[in-house]
Amino acid sequence: MTAKSKEFPGTALSRKDFEEGRVLFTTWDPNARYAWDAGVAIGRYLAELKNGRLIGRKCRKCRRIMIPPRMFCEHCFRPTDEWVYLQDTGTVLTFSLCYVTWDVKRVKEPLIPAVIEIDGASKGMGIMHLLGEVEPEEVKIGMRVKAVWKPPEEREGAITDIKYFKPMTNASMTNDQ
Ligand SMILES: [Zn+2]
Repeated sequence: MTAKSKEFPGTALSRKDFEEGRVLFTTWDPNARYAWDAGVAIGRYLAELKNGRLIGRKCRKCRRIMIPPRMFCEHCFRPTDEWVYLQDTGTVLTFSLCYVTWDVKRVKEPLIPAVIEIDGASKGMGIMHLLGEVEPEEVKIGMRVKAVWKPPEEREGAITDIKYFKPMTNASMTNDQ
């Protein structure tokens, strides 16, 4: 007898007791069905991604424009007020060169996850995505980038409707601004 079984009287069961049928038990596979709703703010955000647009929410009190959008301002403790379309361009706030995939496989060419401050949103407001069409050693904080979208027929209302963000050339800066 261990100290624990003295403390809580009873008969400890082992896996072997179950395997050898010394205990009455049953198995049951739950038929669990989930209907997951993204909510009002993220629902609209995802729908707009399918349209090839980024959208945020504005709080009139603190005047922040937030992306990803939310229906509630955590600064002012009140509901946000309006939808605001944003540009699909931005600035790299931080990034990483990542030599393992999400399921921990080694890769030779690094993935480049980055936080991108989106143009039109308040300072520091951004989303996390991947950078592409850029050499890892060329990525810099403060770099200007633009979304590369999947073709409309391939979009499904997901953040992956943007394939990645690529550096803005001087030509694309003039075109977009
Ligand atoms: Zn606010």
